Amino acid sequence: MIKEETYISRLNPVNAIDDLIEVAKTHEVPIMDKISVEFVKQLIRIHQAHNILEIGTAIGYSALHFASVNDNVHVTTIERNEMMYQFALQHIDDYKKQHQIRPIFKDALEALNDVNDKEYDILFIDAAKAQSLKFFELYSPFVRQGGLIITDNILYHDFVGNIEIVRSRNVKQMVRKIEKYNAWLSENKDYDTNFIDIGDGMSISVKK
Ligand code: SAH
Ligand code: MG
Repeated sequence: MIKEETYISRLNPVNAIDDLIEVAKTHEVPIMDKISVEFVKQLIRIHQAHNILEIGTAIGYSALHFASVNDNVHVTTIERNEMMYQFALQHIDDYKKQHQIRPIFKDALEALNDVNDKEYDILFIDAAKAQSLKFFELYSPFVRQGGLIITDNILYHDFVGNIEIVRSRNVKQMVRKIEKYNAWLSENKDYDTNFIDIGDGMSISVKK
């Protein structure tokens, strides 16, 4: 979700990849906000993560940011929308990150065989919000013990936890699914999870 630039977001490092924020705005693509992306990058550093699996590439903004942490970071990222995928290819090329980012043009419900060649230190779930649980079930087996599963948009415009303010039936349905996912995750004993109110809400689960 794109929020207005704030004092705190301006304190975070400036990066040439942020030029893509304009592209995202023009095409109304819900990329991570600056504070969240820098927070995840810090987790990558602390965790010394090498292999990241991302569900939901969009224009490649978050994948490029993750890959910018250092040359040892490799991002495998899945996108089902052809236009987004083409944007991502272009941007990976523009920023010369072909050697670090492996984009996969597929529905993440069907991409298991394209990504099962390695163990991942971090799984980042940022695709269709109603399907986060499905993605978690499908891809968590590829995360190493001690690895992280990060889920974005767990508050979905602050509708999650406030369903009574939602008018649209479809949005209501999605919000219910996210609430179910959050509850499931918070009770899941195989992971230590914390839920944080940055960006559009994010959860960080450590695999036991
Ligand atoms: N991670 C990006 C933003 C992703 S937006 C960033 O922060 O820069 C969510 C993306 O997930 C959209 O481009 C959408 O097309 C894609 N998506 C949604 N459901 C998907 C699925 N089942 N498989 C693959 N991609 C999916
Ligand atoms: Mg997101």
